[in-house]
Amino acid sequence: MTGNSDDHERTMAFAEIALGQIRALRQPATPRVYEIWYSYATGYNPSLNETINETLARNGTLSETDVDQIYEAFLSPTRLGERIDKVGHRVMDEIEQVMSMVDAAVGSASSYSESLAGVSLQLGNTGDRDGLRAIVESLVHTAKEMESVNNKLEARLNASKQEINQLQENLEVVRTESLTDPLTSLANRKFFDQALSKAIADAFAKQEPLSLMMTDIDHFKTFNDTFGHLTGDQVLRLVALSVKQNVKGQDLAARYGGEEFAVILPNTVLRAGVTVADHIRRAVMTKELMKRSTGEHLGRVTISIGVANLRPDDSAASLIGRADQCLYAAKRNGRNQVICEADPQVSAAGTQSEVA
Ligand code: GH3
Ligand code: MG
Ligand code: MG
Repeated sequence: MTGNSDDHERTMAFAEIALGQIRALRQPATPRVYEIWYSYATGYNPSLNETINETLARNGTLSETDVDQIYEAFLSPTRLGERIDKVGHRVMDEIEQVMSMVDAAVGSASSYSESLAGVSLQLGNTGDRDGLRAIVESLVHTAKEMESVNNKLEARLNASKQEINQLQENLEVVRTESLTDPLTSLANRKFFDQALSKAIADAFAKQEPLSLMMTDIDHFKTFNDTFGHLTGDQVLRLVALSVKQNVKGQDLAARYGGEEFAVILPNTVLRAGVTVADHIRRAVMTKELMKRSTGEHLGRVTISIGVANLRPDDSAASLIGRADQCLYAAKRNGRNQVICEADPQVSAAGTQSEVA
């Protein structure tokens, strides 16, 4: 848990960075401008930072329009809902327009067949050349009109197909964003919860093993207190990267909480899960941390990991609970280690409340 004084230090650091940017660019310190720069300082929204960096590189500043656009695109509180609504409305508009084109085309087709019927009647009554020529000309004219209606309809349908493809891509971006942790780009807790339920159901259905790994950074509070939360956030990104780089295929790595990561390992027995966990642990502990801006050496961080294996009577909660128990045992046992539920330290473990 982050304490009040932690929060104070951390948020003040973000606020100072935000105000520094506003001052440097001589912008109005309105809530909207401040919110944009505050979010920029946290780094939680990489796409926002990327857009700001690109705009600054291009124009040297953020204009009022840039501010409005960035706010709308990344921060507006109703943004996700609104964007989904917008896509919905555009789909409905598209369908309406296409339907009215189809109606018009059907209308033209029936008047075309009516005029054909009229012509056939006239043909029966006409014997002279001039009369025939007039009939043929009117036929050619009507056929041309019909062709033009068809061409328009075809072009409209093609445009509509492209628009709908684009809308589908937009929806996919919104969906991915809502399931991704902005700081680490790993799956977020919502994604993890869905994925774990599905992985458990699949494992039962296919009668396959499933391992779950819970990871927590050791003494991370001390690290933050020593080097500041902004640096702590960078380390979180680095640990997330080590987790990501050591899992593959159908494994799912997620940010479970503040400095806790979870990995779902489908079709993986306990021992294999422990091996993956140990690769991650080693990858993290061997990284020498350095503050990029100052070159300051920050030492290393270590992580503790608990690994549990799915049992026939498990729910998501009971499986997470056992992996957590293993994690607590790893902490109690000295940290920087992997403990699984087959290890003796776990059975010797106390209850969760004794160690939390
Ligand atoms: P332990 O070895 O027992 O895990 O010690 P710990 O200090 O890591 O204890 P705990 O896991 O309870 O600490 C969580 C700390 O992680 C609190 C806070 O300082 C830090 N933390 C949590 N979320 C974030 C975050 O998003 N960014 C940063 N920088 N730090 C975070
Ligand atoms: Mg923790
Ligand atoms: Mg910790």
